[in-house]
This record gives sequence, C-alpha cells and structure tokens, in this order.
Amino acid sequence: MEITRSRPATQAGSAQHFTGSVWLDEIAAPPAPSRLRMFSVHFAPGARTAWHRHPHGQVLHVTEGEGRVGREGGAVEVIRAGDTVWIAPGERHWHGAGPHTFMTHLPVVEAADDGATAAWEERVDEGAYLAA
Ligand code: MN
Repeated sequence: MEITRSRPATQAGSAQHFTGSVWLDEIAAPPAPSRLRMFSVHFAPGARTAWHRHPHGQVLHVTEGEGRVGREGGAVEVIRAGDTVWIAPGERHWHGAGPHTFMTHLPVVEAADDGATAAWEERVDEGAYLAA
C-alpha cells in the first residue's frame, strides 16, 4: 500500500492538445503491471480538449461545474457534476467546459503497451464546440 499526500505541480494544458485555459493535476500513475492513469483536469469557460482517441477507452467523472462532450457523428452533450461518461476504445471525441461555466473532471485511462494514453488530432473549431 502507498498513500500519496503530495503530487507533482499543476501543469498547464499544451496549446497543441487544448483550446483555452486548462490545468492538469496528476492523481495517480501507479507502477506496472498497473496501466491506470488518473488526472484531475480543470477547464475555464470555453476551454476544451482537441479531438482525440484513447487506445483502451476512457472514464470521465465530472466533479464540479458543467461541461460538454462531443463525439464523431453525435450531438454535443451537456455533462454536469456527478455524471460519468464512458468513451469507447478508439472513439473520436473531445471534452471540456461549457461556454460560460467552469468544469472539473477526473479522466481515467489505461495506457497502451507503448505507454500511450491518447492519440491527438486537430483542435475543435468554434462551430463544432457551440453546436450544443
Ligand atoms: Mn478523452
């Protein structure tokens, strides 16, 4: 057993992978054979990820605020504190805050054999983001 009482400094989301102001706190990245990776991600209003996919899928648990999640070919969905989203392996999607609301969620993924947790694609344009 290991109890973590301190963690790495909060990191700003890279402009390549995010639009707007996004901050990431690493919650857990336990040693192999675990492949679990868990963060707490804070999105300012209007901020969101780029389009991307996860090799083994992703759980998103919303802890604060109201946000949006979009997937290829699907309607943009509103997500609120208490909601849990399952993204299927390989499903093209994005997630973020609402246009006028902060949102914090806990993303949980399993890393692939090469350590990858996401394959990043282009940024989500304003029209797709505001389609909610
Ligand atoms: Mn994702």
